[in-house]
Amino acid sequence: MENVLIILGVVLLVLIVGGGALLAPRARRRGKTGPGPSGTRGAGQGGTATAAPPATQAPAAPPAGVAPDITAPPPVSQAPTAPAPELEKPPPSAGRMIRLRGRLARSQTAFGSALLSLLSSGKLDDETWDEIEEVLITADMGAGPAAHLVERLRTEVKVAGTSNLAEVKALLRADLLEQVGQDFDRTLHTAPHGDRPAVLLVVGVNGTGKTTTCGKLARVLVGDGRTVLLGAADTFRAAAADQLETWANRVGAAVVRADREGADPASVAYEAVSAGTARGVDTVIVDTAGRLHTKTGLMDELGKIKRVIEKHGRVDEVLLVLDATTGQNGLRQARVFAEVVDITGIVLTKLDGTAKGGIVIAVQRELGVPVKLVGLGEGPDDLAPFEPEAFVDAMLG
Ligand code: GDP
Repeated sequence: MENVLIILGVVLLVLIVGGGALLAPRARRRGKTGPGPSGTRGAGQGGTATAAPPATQAPAAPPAGVAPDITAPPPVSQAPTAPAPELEKPPPSAGRMIRLRGRLARSQTAFGSALLSLLSSGKLDDETWDEIEEVLITADMGAGPAAHLVERLRTEVKVAGTSNLAEVKALLRADLLEQVGQDFDRTLHTAPHGDRPAVLLVVGVNGTGKTTTCGKLARVLVGDGRTVLLGAADTFRAAAADQLETWANRVGAAVVRADREGADPASVAYEAVSAGTARGVDTVIVDTAGRLHTKTGLMDELGKIKRVIEKHGRVDEVLLVLDATTGQNGLRQARVFAEVVDITGIVLTKLDGTAKGGIVIAVQRELGVPVKLVGLGEGPDDLAPFEPEAFVDAMLG
């Protein structure tokens, strides 16, 4: 009996020690497979990729081989960790122009009220029609479209035999809408192609609001549920890349930028699309330098950027950013860019600060390309898909 008790005691001891030994490595294995530090991807030769800030920070993993001590109290003196930046949730693009109509109306009131007071003067004679034409030209619509609109409106008013302001205003509204063009395809092509992101190239002269537009556009797309990467191919201004990074950080987009000022912009653009593909983002937006030094220089630079991106696949949009307040000068810039690269859409910025909304009509006519987006202020969400009806209504007040 004594022997049996001794044997039972030994078996029990073996079981306790063996069980402990079995459990310990399991705990260690758990420790090894915990979340590791999230690494950033180098973008290769031309640029460095900055990871988007995580929405929430993952708990730090214990060093490999050390079992987490779940019984230990939390450390009392922890180095203060910077709180993860709160990501902003921009509003979706739909209805933005309606929401921002007030901005447009404020700057277009002079145009609308001048037209309507002439039309309501009760005497629509040659002189009044000339004055109406003058108002349209002053709004940068262009002499040809202004003359065409007046001629047409004049005939319509005569046929309708009316001088009723509401009726004349309705005819004018329809004619303006026709000039702005409701048939243009204003779709912004931002959807990925299988495992390749859509690529948007943003071009334009410095100062037009190009970099700001890239940042605002990233917000528009994030607001619509897309994932975005920004490529800072304006390598001549470090500030432009910093500016893009700030925009990107606010909405959790990634950025690829050059590791030094003056790096090859085409190489950064290539790396941006490569990183976008590797990360599986939906849309890559590439900001470019807008130095209108010589047409040949511009052509070489933009041509090369486009060619290297096209090694990955096609460029989905080439968006020309134009400052609406620059009138004829803006149109001249548009012409030069159109000769250098195939523009697919126009972004008219600073429409909030000018009564010259007629530029929409003039630039579309000049390039045969639709205005796809309009900038209506300096706020982060003051960029809207262009909607002809909301625009014309705001113009007429
Ligand atoms: P870039 O040199 O073409 O990249 O121009 P930036 O993006 O740096 O913009 C130049 C200035 O234009 C900045 O002060 C912007 O805030 C301003 N800006 C851009 N878009 C708009 C707009 O739609 N309305 C107004 N009022 N200002 C704008």
